[in-house]
Amino acid sequence: MGYAVPNQIGRGIHMRLHARAFTISDGDKSIAFVSLDGGMGSDVLTKNVLTNVAEQLGDDSIYTYDNVGISGTHTHSGPAGFLQYILYQFTSLGYVQETMDAFVTGISNAIVEAHNNMQENVDITYSTGNQLFESNINRSPTSYLLNPADERSQYPDGDTDKNMLLLKFATPDADIAMLNWYAVHGTSLNNTNKLISGDNKGLASYFFEKEMNGAAALPGTGKFVAAFASTNLGDVSPNTAGAKCIDTGLPCDTEKSTCGGKNEMCIAFGPGTNGDMFESVKIIAENQYKHAKDLYASAKSPIAGPVDYRHTFLNMNNLPVTLEDGSTSTTCTAALGYAFAAGTTDGPGMFDFTQGTNSSSPFWNIVSGFLSKPTDEEKACQSPKPILLNTGDCEKPYAWDPASIPISIQRVGNLFILNVPGELTTMAGRRMRAQITKVLEEGGVEDPIVTIAGLSNTYTHYITTFEEYQAQRYEAASTLYGPHTLTAYMQEMTRIAKDMLEGRESTSSEAPEDLTASQIEFVPPVIEDFVGIGNHFGDVEEDAAEQYTGTDVIRVSFKASNPRNDQRLGGTFGRVEKKGDDGEYTVVFNDGDWCTKFEWKGGVGHFGKSTATIEWDVKESWGGAESGVYRICYGGEAKEITGMKKFEGCSRDFTVAA
Ligand code: ZN
Repeated sequence: MGYAVPNQIGRGIHMRLHARAFTISDGDKSIAFVSLDGGMGSDVLTKNVLTNVAEQLGDDSIYTYDNVGISGTHTHSGPAGFLQYILYQFTSLGYVQETMDAFVTGISNAIVEAHNNMQENVDITYSTGNQLFESNINRSPTSYLLNPADERSQYPDGDTDKNMLLLKFATPDADIAMLNWYAVHGTSLNNTNKLISGDNKGLASYFFEKEMNGAAALPGTGKFVAAFASTNLGDVSPNTAGAKCIDTGLPCDTEKSTCGGKNEMCIAFGPGTNGDMFESVKIIAENQYKHAKDLYASAKSPIAGPVDYRHTFLNMNNLPVTLEDGSTSTTCTAALGYAFAAGTTDGPGMFDFTQGTNSSSPFWNIVSGFLSKPTDEEKACQSPKPILLNTGDCEKPYAWDPASIPISIQRVGNLFILNVPGELTTMAGRRMRAQITKVLEEGGVEDPIVTIAGLSNTYTHYITTFEEYQAQRYEAASTLYGPHTLTAYMQEMTRIAKDMLEGRESTSSEAPEDLTASQIEFVPPVIEDFVGIGNHFGDVEEDAAEQYTGTDVIRVSFKASNPRNDQRLGGTFGRVEKKGDDGEYTVVFNDGDWCTKFEWKGGVGHFGKSTATIEWDVKESWGGAESGVYRICYGGEAKEITGMKKFEGCSRDFTVAA
């Protein structure tokens, strides 16, 4: 989804995205939990994954809406187009079948692989350990301060959670996997980045998996899986240097995050030198990775007991809510407030075009005419939110946002994973965890461990507390269903928790409608690749030099084709190969590695011609690069009149004296 900036169009790959699946069974019941390097979960994505998994597993398939949680890591450097609602399709100009297909394939294969590799005698242990500091910061601290003082005083960590909950999976013979939750946004790479990346969580996973699988295991291969999953990260930024005015260097207005009235000038920076975003993503990833390593080494407390789950679809438009004082109210039909258009200090001001009637977006020009005006009743319900986009009433050309919302609980012994389809703020998450913990304890569960899996199974934007809602900063303006949104989620989560404890089925609304058939798609197809007479796809345009040192960045460019012709799932466009004594080449890095970048130049205005540059930053090589003879290769699929043609090309051999 990127940052929903119209001109943030993908231009290559820094790191490939992965789906990391965990299937857990007690012999009777089973669950599957997936941490997806993606913006968020999506209901139609889950549906398509379930269909695909059922096809692959046949009679063995035990996976349904009820026991599967797909939680997005919330990287802002992933593709868009895999959600079926208008609101999430502005900047991808509609639905993108290519993204959907890639996500379905990747996630389904991950679940099937996990299922087929399930082992007996796996010990699950956990650790929470000490706090992890200097890795997250609250980006709406003035809203947090609106929460009651006595509630805030219960949390010495302050306005962000500093604890990581980590699970270790091991048999007596081998370590199998690691899964953890730590609250921080996937926004270390800012909206100028055009390369696919898992951001800080994807990179932390990469480091942990390299460590456990060995340097020779290419990304996505090797037996050990390490997932850094998302949780209540709603108001939590990795940009720990905070926000400042980029024109004057002075602090922004604290209430409004503006500079001279302009939100686009107030931008937050990570810990990287001079705001270097690649250095920032590495620092925040390394912090999480090193902390996880410590927790992994100390994970001794066992998780044991039954596997169970409860799932329900909620109709979130006008859901009756009982408030704390016993009075009743309802949620509202979905709507976004004005501050939504302003964005956050992690990526400000991108929806300004929604306020104009005529924009350069063909998609917006078509759908904006269907926006409805809020009724007085709707305005009162959402108050004090001033309504910018009254999405809940819009059904044309198809629904603007989800009305039937999945929530679920996955139980493994005394561990309870709450799958919530949105971004809970720090305090909203604390409130939900505290309430469900109390319900479980009252229901007889000893020492329950409750964690929130964020952005699971669909996307409903943000979930703030009632108090934070009053300030109407970005997170509150994006709390779709009004001031009692959190209370509604907590009430319904409590209901299904009690159902689970008491062995009852949970009642549910209908599953969301599959709107695939009516989706609008404006991203043009690849027409044809053209290389020029006398040239060949894969020809080297700019070759490597003969010699490099360990601090060089090596770039080789090739005559290329559009990478959309075949995304090479599980494969690679670029390779760094090392020459052995026998003259044979071995792939040591590919386009999924941190030390490489695959950049593509082409598309509109290039008349089918394109260039691919494969870059290897030698000093960033995992474990350090060895001295020796190397070459850089690139391969793709070219779309020609005669059909699709596979091609390859390699640079000259070069020496690296590391
Ligand atoms: Zn977010």
